[in-house]
Amino acid sequence: MKIIIDSGHGGKDPGAVAFGMTEKYLNLIFAELLATQLENLNIDVDRSLINDIYYTPKELTDLIKDSGASICISCHNNAFNGTVRGFEVIHSIHTKDTLAKSIFEEVKKTNFIVRRVFSRRSTVAPGSDQDYYYIIRLTHPHVETIIVEFGFMDNAEDFKMLTDSVWQQRLTAAVATGISQYISSNIVTKTSILGTSILTPPQLKSALKAVNHSIDPGIVDIYYTISSVYGIKADLAFIQSIHETNWLRFTGVVQPEQNNFSGLGATGPNNPGLSFPTVAAGVEAHIQHLFAYATILPLPAGRILYDKRFNLVQRGSAPSWEDLNGKWAVPGIGYGEKFVAMQNTILKTYPDKLPDTPPITEKPPIPQPPVHWAKSCHDALTEAGLLSNDHTDTLDESASKGVLFCLVNSLRKELMKNE
Ligand SMILES: [Zn+2]
Repeated sequence: MKIIIDSGHGGKDPGAVAFGMTEKYLNLIFAELLATQLENLNIDVDRSLINDIYYTPKELTDLIKDSGASICISCHNNAFNGTVRGFEVIHSIHTKDTLAKSIFEEVKKTNFIVRRVFSRRSTVAPGSDQDYYYIIRLTHPHVETIIVEFGFMDNAEDFKMLTDSVWQQRLTAAVATGISQYISSNIVTKTSILGTSILTPPQLKSALKAVNHSIDPGIVDIYYTISSVYGIKADLAFIQSIHETNWLRFTGVVQPEQNNFSGLGATGPNNPGLSFPTVAAGVEAHIQHLFAYATILPLPAGRILYDKRFNLVQRGSAPSWEDLNGKWAVPGIGYGEKFVAMQNTILKTYPDKLPDTPPITEKPPIPQPPVHWAKSCHDALTEAGLLSNDHTDTLDESASKGVLFCLVNSLRKELMKNE
């Protein structure tokens, strides 16, 4: 994560002028200090726009976009009518105010007067969905640009503090802390493109079959085989393809015979994008495009480059799925987050059968000796006290008349006892 710092105005453009000082001069001080504060927090800073040079809007925003930075902080100081005071942060109308708020809250803690966090829509074209400030408008969505207005230099109290080196240190340290907190909270929530899948092929096949049962689910296996060569998460790559192709039903501009499962090069009805000779080649091109974004590594040995757009990718510019927002898809707000959410849904809907659990086998019944037809009578007589010895082994033997008479006589006495 790299941050580019811009010192607002420069060269022939002085910005605001108050109390004999130009804004561009004050901005340079704040930009330099902020860069140092960020570096002290181990944040990668691009200082190439901290200078006293005039750039046209296009020149400046092209330099910002080409820097490879994810965030741009443009340092400014305000002027109005001398009565207004306070610190302000401006963010894009297209982004949340998370970064701006994080900075604002830190500056508030310094007890410097803080005014507001805001975004401003362009009014040039009515109903236009564009930012008012060109540095934000022309860098979105490639870079998250915010404008920091440290204070109102035409206000006497603000001016006194803005030109005080202690306050300059305090304010830039607070801004750097806010940025750092935003970065660390953002990294935690991102999901790397490289790595191993959470879902198994059967889970994805079940999900696919539930929506599109006419497609050969073997494509899932192709995704897993090829992704493993490149070290890409196959499940999320396949989920991206079902997003791009509407569950392989190809309801957009790309046709099924193109074998283009990720919308590579497709920009509209007149340009349906790349075509590939086989399903495997199309899948490999998709994986190669992800590989280009996620890494700066060369292709794995022996692989054919199917992705004709591979070299158009700024290598390593999107190590996470969320980083593809505004790159693979424009504006692409929530593009990568969508795949991670879908992975979660599939995981819950189609729980994986645990392959390690041994199958429950029927145990063969333990052979039981056959029970003699007279055993229950023998046991009943024993319980009644009419037999004193165990005879279960000799039930088939014939009894003598004497044994029989004795037994019947015992029974007769038992019956008489009960009368
Ligand atoms: Zn300015």
